[in-house]
Amino acid sequence: MERNFALIGYPLGHSMSPVIHDRLFQLSGDGASRYSLVEIKPEHFRAQAPELFKLSGFNVTIPHKLNIIKYLDGMDISAKRYGAVNVVKCGEQNIGYNTDVDGFLRSVNSLGANLSGRVLLLGCGGAGRMMAIETIRHGGELTIAVRNRPESIEKGQNVLSNIKMLADDAKVRLTTLDGVSGDYDLLLNSTPCGMYPHAGEMPVNPAVLERVEFVFDAIYNPGATELVKTARANGAKAIGGMAMLVWQAVAAHEIWDGVTYDPETISNLIGEMEYAVEHDFGS
Ligand code: NAP
Repeated sequence: MERNFALIGYPLGHSMSPVIHDRLFQLSGDGASRYSLVEIKPEHFRAQAPELFKLSGFNVTIPHKLNIIKYLDGMDISAKRYGAVNVVKCGEQNIGYNTDVDGFLRSVNSLGANLSGRVLLLGCGGAGRMMAIETIRHGGELTIAVRNRPESIEKGQNVLSNIKMLADDAKVRLTTLDGVSGDYDLLLNSTPCGMYPHAGEMPVNPAVLERVEFVFDAIYNPGATELVKTARANGAKAIGGMAMLVWQAVAAHEIWDGVTYDPETISNLIGEMEYAVEHDFGS
């Protein structure tokens, strides 16, 4: 039976999601499901949201990860924890999930790092907030660095008080990207700084990378950002965001269809997508 899935967001540009999800359907022997891109401008979301539930399931990205919540019948604990939905399974009940966290944790693990040490998080928007909460859940000592502008600092302070509400003994502090000091076990970049077409830009002074052991950059285009390249040149272990992107998609298929995938197959798919982003998606 033909089923339809989609990515909802705006703008979607050259999203890699259809390629990744088509490959995952193929790998699970499903030749009948289709995955497409549905761009919805924020001002049209209210009118178009009810139509989305005719799909079998969908992914949600910027700027609708919060907007979708009021149209759902329920949310899994993963979505409640971060207050953001990136996967919806449609049916008698339309339920929201967060699988970005699966991709993030798998990536940190594959790097050989862990979240229980001194963690420096750059930026704290949607993805950053999830990384911050996970760091605290794993007992890490967290420094969040944001842009040195009143509005960015205010958002950072909101995330900080949010975290303190979730865990009042959390070891967390706020600083600015231009004021980062100290040594860190793991640096997490959740800013879009360095993303195509601004490859070459860095969210922090390169000197910061001389005092860091592991780096995870959520950006997947380019495959290796300036941050990742500089960290590697300094002897740190560093990876980009493709593994996170692919593993969050894998977790969506597990939710939609109950299918599981062999880790080696997924590792090959990540390699395939890293090659594709360098050669086919303009980086
Ligand atoms: P978001 O909600 O817009 O948050 C972006 C954060 O970065 C905010 O804290 C923002 O702070 C800061 N920021 C924006 N531009 C900046 C700049 N030029 N320099 C320094 N800080 C800047 O976005 P998001 O959804 O969290 O996504 C963030 C990044 O993660 C994007 O690159 C996205 O592609 C990537 N991502 C990857 C995956 C994956 O699967 N690999 C999944 C989710 C997200 P201000 O308050 O200062 O604007």
